[in-house]
Amino acid sequence: MLRVGLVMLQGARHVHIAALRLAADESDIEVEIHELRKASDLAAADPHAIVIPGGESTTMRLTGTDPTSGLLPALFEWIRSNDTRPVLGTCAGAILLADPQDGGGPLVDAVIDRNAYGRQADSFQATLEASLLGRDFPGVFIRAPRFLSNGEGAEVAVLHGDEVVGVMTGNRLALTFHPELSADIGFHRWLLETAANGGSA
Ligand code: GLN
Repeated sequence: MLRVGLVMLQGARHVHIAALRLAADESDIEVEIHELRKASDLAAADPHAIVIPGGESTTMRLTGTDPTSGLLPALFEWIRSNDTRPVLGTCAGAILLADPQDGGGPLVDAVIDRNAYGRQADSFQATLEASLLGRDFPGVFIRAPRFLSNGEGAEVAVLHGDEVVGVMTGNRLALTFHPELSADIGFHRWLLETAANGGSA
């Protein structure tokens, strides 16, 4: 039984549950989803994989660093010390991975800029080139961030034209779009299959 920890602080959480269930069916992997709200939820779940959804990173930081939760600092530390277990961070989740603001280093080797597409184009859809999946992927961008740069420790996982919209450091994948909102659940399958293979993709 594979345990997946889903960060439930705020944002687009429930659609990820549906995508994970579908991915589990398609990959024929038995999955248990553990909802993470507090540091103690993370310790109790001891997850094989983590999803950090999109939403509003400022709100997630507030709720996740509140002493009643303490989830974010515990999660970032957990990710650093379990570095083969796969992590999928989408949109606001990608912002948290690139810029955890907990005094430790970034969890993916990239610099990210919030709300970088501006108001006039703050939501759009585009066909992406997902080298990680070996195919095109329908990208849904909602007030999305942009990678300003990606370092040597970041592999390009997804491109929108020339622009990098998905990076991977080890098994941590940061996507600036919302993969749970398209019919293709390839990234959720990647997460489960990587976890099922003991952390190696
Ligand atoms: N604009 C949000 C932020 O800054 C991210 C948007 C999203 O997750 N859809 O956190």
